[in-house]
Amino acid sequence: MMTIDSLLRKVKTYSSKADLVQIKRAYDFAKKAHEGQKRFSGEPVINHCLAVASALADWKLDTTSILAGLLHDVVEDTNVSLEKLEKEFSHEVALLVEGVTNVGEIKLRGEKKEEFVENLRKMLLVMAKDLRVILIKLADRYHNMQTLQFLPKEKQLRIARETLEVYAPLSERLGIGEMKGKLEDLAFPYVYPKDYQWLKELAEPYYYEAEVYIQEAVKQIEKKLAAEKIKAEIYGRAKHFYSLWTKLLRPEIDKDIEKVHDLMALRIIVKTVRDCYAALGIVHKLWKPVPHEGVRDFIAQPKPNGYRSIHTTVFGPAGKIFEIQIRTRQMHEEAENGIAAHWYMAMLKVKSKLSSKDIDKGEFFAPSEKLAWVRQLVIWQKEIVDSHEFLRALKFDALAHRIFVFSPKGDVYDLPLGATPVDFAYAVHTDVGDQTMGAKVNGKMVKLDYHLKSGDMVEVIKSKRAKPSHDWLNFVVTTMARRKIAKHFNR
Ligand code: MN
Repeated sequence: MMTIDSLLRKVKTYSSKADLVQIKRAYDFAKKAHEGQKRFSGEPVINHCLAVASALADWKLDTTSILAGLLHDVVEDTNVSLEKLEKEFSHEVALLVEGVTNVGEIKLRGEKKEEFVENLRKMLLVMAKDLRVILIKLADRYHNMQTLQFLPKEKQLRIARETLEVYAPLSERLGIGEMKGKLEDLAFPYVYPKDYQWLKELAEPYYYEAEVYIQEAVKQIEKKLAAEKIKAEIYGRAKHFYSLWTKLLRPEIDKDIEKVHDLMALRIIVKTVRDCYAALGIVHKLWKPVPHEGVRDFIAQPKPNGYRSIHTTVFGPAGKIFEIQIRTRQMHEEAENGIAAHWYMAMLKVKSKLSSKDIDKGEFFAPSEKLAWVRQLVIWQKEIVDSHEFLRALKFDALAHRIFVFSPKGDVYDLPLGATPVDFAYAVHTDVGDQTMGAKVNGKMVKLDYHLKSGDMVEVIKSKRAKPSHDWLNFVVTTMARRKIAKHFNR
């Protein structure tokens, strides 16, 4: 269990002494405010505040965030006002707590579909004003999910569903892959109880077998790396349960668990990027890469959420297929603790304040292209008055699963699942979209309604005389393409 001392110890690893005094003061303040209040679990509320602050400290967030994490429930659940918080702490702390309180009041699952859209829109707007609000809200949701079994039945399902539909995808988009997996696994048994039971019984022996196998593989690769004088931390990592389930549902897997090769992955963490490639060479000398699955180099081509690593699928000991992930310590920390947080904090250091003008212009993140989707949402919600179109934009573009495809020059494009060469063309440029005549994927001609897959290299064949076709609207999935095609016909 979390205590104020363990929280302070955590913060101390990256923060100054003066900050610790502040944090202790916020803890005392929150403890007094929540005096006598208990959670459904019977625990005092202050334990929840500590758990939230501690997750924020794991992400190495600034003191203002930690303070707001400790104080995030006082305005909602006690008679402390925002003005009081501002006076006792700071304007910024009060703003963050206000943001978290506002988001908390929005129940996404209303009776009607329109309500859901409206609420989602409200929530994203509040959160987009300061990324730290999202992070505090995620930490809050994470602890609430861990204690969900104590809640009344009817609340459990609503909260678990909201977690699966909104918070898990959000954490993925923010580059906190670990949090995404944890949230999904916590929500899974509540939202799909029967499938959860089915999978549990099916998968248990396979996980067991994979673990024994990976331990053997760790031993073998450890020796080889040591012989080449590469310092590395090597361990096995089990695939998250929910992610296994969604994989089993894919048509090419068709619920056959034998076809899943990443039940357990082997992770190699080394010091430098150079060591990553050296380790890759040593791995391939020991175990041959599987043709067609091969190597995915997210160091040379990071995913749009910033994720970096090298993935390779190999024939391991006894010819069994498994996945290996190679990365540096820094890449590892970023992936575990939030790439977005990392950028955001770096930006805050450069620029101490964000004006609402910056937000309106959509310029509220440092390397703005990296979190372009949040910016896009804010811009869209201004442009799009019709809530159905907004929901479509949101579901298909921002929160749906994504694929990553490449241009012939090697630029990465982040598109929703089901995207076609036409979606790709419009993502590259309006003119490219409008002049699309045909497309090649991995060197072969495909139809324009072809469903792209992650890793595909897409080449658009253009002609100055080509024009958009009306039936493209029947298969494109991105809002961008849809709007551009519609615009062409309105002209
Ligand atoms: Mn809370």
